[in-house]
Amino acid sequence: MPCDALYLHIPFCLRKCPYCDFYSVDADPSLMDAYTEAVLCAFAQAPFDLAPLDTVYFGGGTPSALGGERLARLLDGVRSRFGIRSDAEVTVECNPCSALPDTLSHLWDAGVNRLSLGMQSVDDRQLALLGRMHTSAGVQDAIAAAYRVGFSHLSLDLMLATPGQSLSDIGRAARFCAEAGAEHLSAYLLKIEPDTPFGREGVDSCCPDEDGQADAYLYAVDVFEQLGYRQYEISNFARDGHIARHNYKYWDCREYLGIGPSAHSFIGGRRRYFPRDLRGFLGAPDKFALLREDGPGGDLEEYLMLRLRLSEGVTWEKLAGRFPGFDPAPLREKARPLQKGGLLVCDGAGLHLTPSGFLLSNSVIGELLL
Ligand code: SF4
Repeated sequence: MPCDALYLHIPFCLRKCPYCDFYSVDADPSLMDAYTEAVLCAFAQAPFDLAPLDTVYFGGGTPSALGGERLARLLDGVRSRFGIRSDAEVTVECNPCSALPDTLSHLWDAGVNRLSLGMQSVDDRQLALLGRMHTSAGVQDAIAAAYRVGFSHLSLDLMLATPGQSLSDIGRAARFCAEAGAEHLSAYLLKIEPDTPFGREGVDSCCPDEDGQADAYLYAVDVFEQLGYRQYEISNFARDGHIARHNYKYWDCREYLGIGPSAHSFIGGRRRYFPRDLRGFLGAPDKFALLREDGPGGDLEEYLMLRLRLSEGVTWEKLAGRFPGFDPAPLREKARPLQKGGLLVCDGAGLHLTPSGFLLSNSVIGELLL
């Protein structure tokens, strides 16, 4: 299948959150101007042929911090270089802030049709503790602004197992999302990376332990389901017909091109990535000369690891189609004790993890691949 997915990394944030290790720098206007030019230049240099794009995803960082005019220029550049299908999904990650309504109207006019809003919590104390710049009222204002402009496809991010978060906090946030009309939710357990302010300050000692994290996760899965959000991936939930098309391609092990510092690609059968170095990206005459090789992609092990993140898991039929000669017997054998433990379901159609299996996904998938 030809590559029809493009990821653009926008490496700017208004302020760094203390738990985050995504690649981003301060949203300095002159740097953002230079970056916009550099990405437009990268489009012209891209040594890959893509099919007209079915999905375009602006991730970060905080893409909305780039501002509506720069983002619209980038999307125009994407359209002229690669082509965008008329029914494409075009997503921009946003954070609530006072400039957002103006940005959103530029995005809507430019052809963006899906927003992913970094809500994280609806509790102002939790938001302050997480170092977020917005309040719950700011989230409401951002959602209202999005609807006013014309957006109807909205995804909200929620963080689970943060210090002091109770199950009723999760329930309240879930009901907020449903009442706000979000069609898609992403819910991630707070993971404290060592090389962040939270990591250095030992904040993990204030976070729920493994049992508490499991309770938070399984409660969230349950309450989302009750509100009509079906789990379709470890951390993602959607109302019928509203899964994230772009992200689904990652888990289905399909090819995509990523552009920008720290962006990863799977294209031409190879995994590659740009270094986490904005200055290097800006200064490089040939942006794609910066790409580092990360080995071949799409083998059986990788396919299983990615597909088993999805609730639908893998089917024997798809495995046989993608890997001619594939023998399911060893996998079925290894799955037997895990199925007895309630961690997965292995039947005549295929194999998929249960919500309890998702909680231990790394070790469950590791057992299957041994
Ligand atoms: S806004 Fe998002 S990308 Fe930026 S620092 Fe916070 S969590 Fe990280």
